Amino acid sequence: MDTFSKTERSDIMRKVRSKDTSPERKVRSLLHRMGFRFRLHRKDLPGNPDIVLPKHSAVVFVHGCFWHRHPGCSRTRTPASRREYWLPKFDRTVRRDADNQAALRRLGWKVIIVWECELRDAEDLEKRLSQALLSGDAWYENDSVEVIPLAAEDRPPYGGGGNAE
Ligand code: ZN
Repeated sequence: MDTFSKTERSDIMRKVRSKDTSPERKVRSLLHRMGFRFRLHRKDLPGNPDIVLPKHSAVVFVHGCFWHRHPGCSRTRTPASRREYWLPKFDRTVRRDADNQAALRRLGWKVIIVWECELRDAEDLEKRLSQALLSGDAWYENDSVEVIPLAAEDRPPYGGGGNAE
């Protein structure tokens, strides 16, 4: 028995489809409300960051806690079955994230990770974002990260962020 009308069904399908992108959309509209200008999905940057704020030399990744393994988060559960399938998959994702973030920092970008679970408290997230974006902190999360000067031909086409210019 089909208990939904055609319109109801297509409404439901639309909600299901848009669910994937909604955390990223929430972060975008939050940043927009806060007055930040940004660009989306710069394909020329390592890891194709979800949101790029050129003026602040900052990139934002919106990460799902489960796939990207948010440390200490209750959503970062490991499925009990087929661990031989899941564990290497998680391992690859975490490794790739770390590599991309290191590459971005070397290019002079400040890297901000927003975890999906942080969207539950928009006020808190707003505080953290403005702190991260507006603070006079060094571009690098970790001072021990070595900054490798880029040869001119290695520079990304749109410039590698504020401190490289
Ligand atoms: Zn989380």
